[in-house]
Amino acid sequence: MRLVLLGPPGSGKGTQAKMVSEKMGIPQISTGDILREAVARGTELGRKARSYMDAGQLVPDDVMLGLMEKRIGEADCARGYILDGFPRTLAQALGLDEILSRRGEAIDLAILIEVGDDTVVKRLTRRRVCPACHALYNLDTDPPKDDNRCDRCGVELVLRSDDEETTVRTRLNVYR
Ligand code: ADP
Repeated sequence: MRLVLLGPPGSGKGTQAKMVSEKMGIPQISTGDILREAVARGTELGRKARSYMDAGQLVPDDVMLGLMEKRIGEADCARGYILDGFPRTLAQALGLDEILSRRGEAIDLAILIEVGDDTVVKRLTRRRVCPACHALYNLDTDPPKDDNRCDRCGVELVLRSDDEETTVRTRLNVYR
């Protein structure tokens, strides 16, 4: 099963992808998570991506396509995968088609999750993430048990730098 999840930031792609991943036993490939980890580790990819991400802009298509071609070729993707956050542009979609046809594969299903802007802004500015294990919380709907600390690791939760309201509005415009 090769799935693509589409939808604005904050629409729940990551949450849904995680559930499907557990149920079907196929990996969730979140380009946002891959890029954030690269930034945290200071790799070459991270250095290329950082300024775009902090501004809420898209990382260039050639960088994304190179990254995804490599990731889709890894052993854990043999039985399928869920793409969360990719493709994001027409060039990425066409590039993905090319990568897949070279591999003799195709996407089985693409799902679009539709959510209004105000809901997105409310969800993301109240979202908190564990910098250690990437667990997500929401201060209104899914708060941590202990004041602002991850239930699993006890690490202090943070607001993603691109979840500030002005950056969220930029990301929504970029998405449209
Ligand atoms: P969101 O969808 O919530 O904006 P993501 O975690 O998917 O956040 O992505 C965070 C940032 O990583 C994006 O704002 C963008 O800079 C970069 N990014 C992620 N996926 C892509 C992609 N497919 N193409 C270009 N940039 C991407």
